Amino acid sequence: MTRAERLARPEVLAYVGLGANLGDAPQAVRDAIAALEAAPGVSLVQASSLYRSAPVDATGPDYTNAVACISTTLTAPALLRALQTIEDTAGRERPYRNAPRTLDLDLLLYGSAHIASPDLTVPHPRMGERAFVLVPLSQVAPELVDTEALQAVAGQGVERLAATD
Ligand code: ADP
Ligand code: MG
Repeated sequence: MTRAERLARPEVLAYVGLGANLGDAPQAVRDAIAALEAAPGVSLVQASSLYRSAPVDATGPDYTNAVACISTTLTAPALLRALQTIEDTAGRERPYRNAPRTLDLDLLLYGSAHIASPDLTVPHPRMGERAFVLVPLSQVAPELVDTEALQAVAGQGVERLAATD
């Protein structure tokens, strides 16, 4: 991309789901939010609090979760690559599906785009069923989350962590 094209690209509001459940998971999520903020073409609009949730369809320690609202000039595929670079920097390995992870970054929403490519589906297909996404998302963007959707996942334990956790 040339500099002129980069400058001309519009800002898109996007939402990123963050999760970690190995090592110091709260610190991994805080570091990832800082890495997002520092990524070229990305600025942080608002990060949710940190939340604790029990693993869904998986084993291992509890997760720390958060949602970040960002403004970006990156295309959706470029943003996904930037997220994967941050995961890799955090030492993410993928031994098997739903394995415990040091860091998982999911692109939840990219403006109003609907994307269905082999390696990117937006809106994220499972976000509507997951309290650990909907609860922090409703903190930063209440208009994006239906009350009914929140009620439907109310049985999943998601606990807001104190600011110092
Ligand atoms: P999961 O997040 O489902 O636990 P991974 O983080 O290992 O699993 O992601 C697996 C693949 O999901 C990635 O290689 C990526 O290409 C694909 N993917 C599809 N849509 C998205 C999305 N919206 N956000 C993040 N990854 C996505
Ligand atoms: Mg992921």
